Parts: sequence; structure tokens; C-alpha cells
Amino acid sequence: MAKELDTSIQYLSGVGPKRAVLLQRELGIETLSDLIHLYPFRYIDRSGITPIAQVAPDLALVQLQATVVSRALLGPGGAIVSQDTNPIHWGAVKRLSVIVEDATGRMEMVFFKGVKWNYQRLAPGSTFIFFGKPQEFGGRMNIVHPEVDAPQDGALSQGTLTGVYPSTEKLRTGGITGKVMCKLQSAALALCLPEIQETLPEYVLRDRGLVSLPYALRNIHFPKDSYALQKASYRLKFEELFFLQLSLLKQKYVRSRGERGLPMPKVGPDFHACYNALPYNLTGAQQRVIKEIRADLMSGHQMNRLLQGDVGSGKTMVAVLSCLMAIGNGFQTCIMAPTEVLAQQHYANIQKYLKPTAVQCALLTGSTPQKERRAIHAALEDGSLGILVGTHALLEDNVVFRNLGLAVIDEQHRFGVEQRSKLWSKGPGIPPHVLVMTATPIPRTLAMTLYGDLDVSVIDEMPPGRKPVQTMCIGQNRRSAMYKFMREEIARGRQVFVVFPLIFESEKMDLQNLEQGYEEIVRAFPLPDYKVAIVHGQQSNEEKNFNMSAFVAGRANILVSTTVIEVGVDVPNASVMVIESAQRFGLSQLHQLRGRVGRGAEKSYCILVKDVKTTKEAQQRLDLMCATEDGFEIAEQDMKMRGPGDLEGTQQSGLPISLNIASLAKDGALLSEARAYAGQILDADPSLSDPRNVPLLRELRKDKYEIKDYSKIS
Ligand code: ADP
Ligand code: MG
Repeated sequence: MAKELDTSIQYLSGVGPKRAVLLQRELGIETLSDLIHLYPFRYIDRSGITPIAQVAPDLALVQLQATVVSRALLGPGGAIVSQDTNPIHWGAVKRLSVIVEDATGRMEMVFFKGVKWNYQRLAPGSTFIFFGKPQEFGGRMNIVHPEVDAPQDGALSQGTLTGVYPSTEKLRTGGITGKVMCKLQSAALALCLPEIQETLPEYVLRDRGLVSLPYALRNIHFPKDSYALQKASYRLKFEELFFLQLSLLKQKYVRSRGERGLPMPKVGPDFHACYNALPYNLTGAQQRVIKEIRADLMSGHQMNRLLQGDVGSGKTMVAVLSCLMAIGNGFQTCIMAPTEVLAQQHYANIQKYLKPTAVQCALLTGSTPQKERRAIHAALEDGSLGILVGTHALLEDNVVFRNLGLAVIDEQHRFGVEQRSKLWSKGPGIPPHVLVMTATPIPRTLAMTLYGDLDVSVIDEMPPGRKPVQTMCIGQNRRSAMYKFMREEIARGRQVFVVFPLIFESEKMDLQNLEQGYEEIVRAFPLPDYKVAIVHGQQSNEEKNFNMSAFVAGRANILVSTTVIEVGVDVPNASVMVIESAQRFGLSQLHQLRGRVGRGAEKSYCILVKDVKTTKEAQQRLDLMCATEDGFEIAEQDMKMRGPGDLEGTQQSGLPISLNIASLAKDGALLSEARAYAGQILDADPSLSDPRNVPLLRELRKDKYEIKDYSKIS
């Protein structure tokens, strides 16, 4: 079975060993099946013939029907080697110039390669279809390396739309031009189409009004017309997104049906004590998310929930109340943060929330003294410690819980995959419930895919009373005005963040920039009136903590830093965020940084300082920052500008499978449809054991759907 599909590309007529290597290296194509799954990324309408008189350099691609008038073989510097004379000294020829004409005018076709062959076939008096990009050269129009077809040779493209395939310079110089690629596809399809098996059940095709797979494959390469192309592309996109979602949802079904969750039927007195003493009302979004978490904990199945919420949306409160629910059922909990300062801050906040309760809470970080550690270990083992807050130190082997029921992981993207999975082993035989919190807003379509088998909760509402952060973008020429503004804010008792890009913390250049920047700030804000602290990745932990704490406690007016402050630190008194060389940051980073201010009662500002060398794309990012504060909107735009693979904060996780034709940025609506439809099918037949669903199971068994189990690593 499937003989042709698995055939090495080398044996396809027109390929051979050399081109096979090229196709493999440049496009990853090894078999005929790989080839026919390389789709055109756009199509050219070749239905029209342009009269030569209308050819202009601003036309993208034109098709002419013209007759050869004369040919000239030119040597170096344009000297004529030979004009229709014999014998020809091919070695001396650098290019072939062919003059063609139609009823409206004359034009030149130029060839630097394939000179001999083109010379021979482009005999004066014969008519051809020429296709290519016109350009102006020496005041005249020409086309370099046009595609040349005999007028009646329309058999290749069948329709009038010609696919354009991904290509590279190496492929083209290796002879695999667009036209050759079309020929290869045509040959491969002829061999493979009879073997293609429908991947979707009959009833799915009918339900969704989809064309068959062979029809779709034929028409994605050689569309009969634009309607057929649309049908083909819809079918292939739907299929791709559908199987992706089906595989993710199936894992979720398997897990949620497993009997492995720690049962937590109660809420308990500590939850109520804390809740009733809150100085504010929970937002509607916080309430909804707490209900979702409560339902998970009661379900008897293990919770794996991702909690997304913009900076300042109040995730900590949700984490604390979730912990108290687990504690109400006799379990212990932990909250893990990516940095020591954050862990300390969480610890301080949480202790405040816990005042009205009887719950014990402790902080464990790398710098916790041995004596304290021993006390913590003992309280963990005898069960008296309810919440352990900490850094990676929580993962050490000697940290043993009596009965860990819930693990909260803050700012998920800072943790490596292995570290997260270590938490699982700390449960009492059964893995703990897991709540992952992230402030990196991920567009819904991407969340559905990246975390397709996790449940996702979103806090999409800010606590009341938050003032918008006024954002502006300035050039270097306004630096002294900015310093003046900073002095005014400091005179009002506020604090200022100044962030420098240090994208690769090891890069000397970046560190130099930071140090120069720091010196400049110190000169502009000298002692004893001003105190400036500095934090960067090359400092020791003690140094970092010392300087950071000075700012958090209000002993320093200005904190100069790299993006180490990006995550979570809460300094309500800081009202100004200055981002230097802002054009070098990505959108999500800019958004995270801005989230550091606007946390207190005062009006806050974010000043994006750009350098002269700011590209158009970078300016777009800065403009968007000035236009909106909505993290999800920024994330959506970010994805549109850069494509989902590049989205910050998601590189580590990557996409579970690579998409061939569908796009997460463009096909969001179709993705939702495909997900809902996959859910319907699984609701009716969770194990896909219905005979009608045999094709689905067969497809899911393919290697590409062997997705890492995200529930176990997040
Ligand atoms: P996040 O971790 O999501 O960035 P935090 O949990 O640190 O946000 O909350 C930000 C600030 O908002 C904290 O000072 C917190 O006390 C406050 N806060 C949280 N929930 C509410 C609420 N419902 N009403 C008013 N203030 C709130
Ligand atoms: Mg937080």
C-alpha cells in the first residue's frame, strides 16, 4: 500500500539525485507525498494577455503573446558574439537578447542562463507566450528570464490560475524554477492521486460541505477556477485545524476521565474567613474564575488550568483563595514564582490575606538560612504548613510535603519544562491539581492550540479604579524634557523605572549600553538629592536583591535595569516607566513593562524613547503601544505582525504541530469552528470507536499527532 506516496523524490521524472538533494535541503522534501503537500502560497491569474504597448515597470507580472523578431548572443560588455551566424562560440556568450513583437509594439527578453536552449527554440518568426516581471533598463522595457510556453501548451496549468511555490535562490539556480515545480507537481499528482485515501469520514464531508481529498489536492495545485480553489483550500485548512483540535481534545477527554484527581468537595472555614475580610469586592471575572477552579477541585479529576490575566488583573487573590479551598480539604499547597523578589512579594501579600485565617505560610528560596529550612521541612512533613511560597528551591528533592494538593505556578513562561514536571512527583501518590498563571496574554486562537488540552480561564476585567497609563513615544531630542518631567514626579514623591534593552544578557555591547545609560542617569540625577539603583543579569543574587529591595522599599528614586523587572514586581509608588531604545523590544515585552506602573492611586506614565534607527515595523509597535492598553489586543496584533511562531513567551512551548496551510493568525474563526466540531464528535464518541470514525482514528495515529502531553509539563 501507499507505494507511490513513499517513493523517494529522486525517482520522479525530472528530478534525479542532484535535484533530490536540493529539494531535500531547501524544502525538506524527501518523498512524493512530501512534494504534493507543498502547496502554492499564491496564485497568478494567467487568463489575460497584456499588449506590449501597455507593459509598464509597475506591473507585477505580465503575460505576453509575441513573435520573435531577432536574437542576439552577447559577450562581456555587450559585444556581439554572433547574430544568427555559424558556428557559435558558446563559451564566449554571456547573455541572449531576444526582440519580440505583437501588434502593439516590441520588447526585449533577456536570458543569462539556458542560453543555448532558449536560442535554439526561440527561432525568428515563431510565436510564444512570455511570462515574467517587466523592468525598465536603459530606457526600454525588458523581462529577464521569462517563462516561455508554446501558445497551445496550456495543458500544464489546466485552469487559468497558476500556483506559485515557495522557492529559494539555490532551487532556482539548480534549475527548479516555478515552471519546473509545476511540472513536478503534475507528475507526482498523476502517480499519487489514485492512492490518496480520504482522511475524513463520509458524514463529516457531508456535514461540513467539504470536497473530497483528491479533489482538494488536485485543485490546490492546479485550480480549475477560483471557486474550485476556494473549495480546495477550505477543505484542507479545515482538515488541518480539525485534526489538530481533535488530537488535543482527545487527550483532554482521556485525562478528565481518568480517576486521578484528589477529591476536594468542601470549601472550608479559612476560605470564608479570608473572603469575608477582603477590603474590596472581587471582580466579576475573578468570581467566575474561582467558580471554575472550585468545580475542577470538586470534580474528582485532576485540574490542569491555565489562568490568563493581564498584569494587575488580580491573579494573586485567585491563587490564594484556590489554596484556601485545598487547605479546607486537609491538603497543603505551594505557590512557585520565577524570582526571589517576586516570591518575597507574594509571601508578604499572602500573609496579609491570611491574617483572618488560621493558615500557616512560609517562604522558601535559595537564600533561606539552614535553620529556617529545617523548620520549614518539619512543618511540611507534619502537615502544619498550609502554603509554601518560593522559587525553584521548592523543587529540591529534600522538600517533601505531607500531602500536596495544589501547586500554583506563577508566570509560567519563566519555568522550564522539566522543572514543572518535577512538581507532579510531589503529590501524595496522586499528582496535585495544577494552576498555571500567566500575564502574557495569548490570543485565543493560539491558546486553543498551545494549551488545547488544558482548561483556560481568563480574567478579562481589571479591578475598578485603575487609571490608564499615559503612553508616549519620544525621540532622543526630547531627553532633557523627559529628565525634567522625571524630576517633577520624583519631587512629588514618586519613583521611576528606567529600562534598557538587554536582550542577550551576555552581550558585552548591551551591558556597555546599560552602564553608559546608568552613568548618564546618575549624572542627571546626582546624590544626595537622588538615589539611583541598578539591577541586571550579571549581578549576583544578593546584589540584585539588595538593589531591588532598595527600590521596592522606596530608598531609591530611580531603578535602572534590564528586563529582569519585567515579571511581576509590584511597586505601587512607581508612576513612570521609561523604556530606552524602545524600538528594540517586542510588543509583549513592552506591554509587560508598562504593566509595572499604574498600580497605585497616582496617574502613571510610560515613555518610550526611540533611537534614530527605528524601522517601520518597530514604529508600528510603538504606535500600537500608544494606542491601546489592552493586552489581548496587543497580543492579537503582535501575532498578525509577526506570525504565531514568533510570538513572545511562546517560543519555548512552540506549536504542537506545524501547520501547512492554515494560519492561526488568519484562520481564527475556522479554528474555533473546527474545535467545536471536534468537540461534538468526541462528545458522541469519546474513544472514536464508532465504525464511522475509523478514518479519524487512523489519521490520529500518524506521527505528526504525537504531541507532547502538555498537561504534564505545564
Ligand atoms: P496580577 O498578579 O494579576 O498582576 P495582583 O494580584 O498583583 O495582579 O493584583 C494587582 C493589585 O490589585 C493588587 O494590589 C491587589 O490587591 C489589587 N486587587 C486585586 N483584586 C482586586 C479587586 N477585586 N478590587 C480591587 N483591587 C484588587
Ligand atoms: Mg502577579
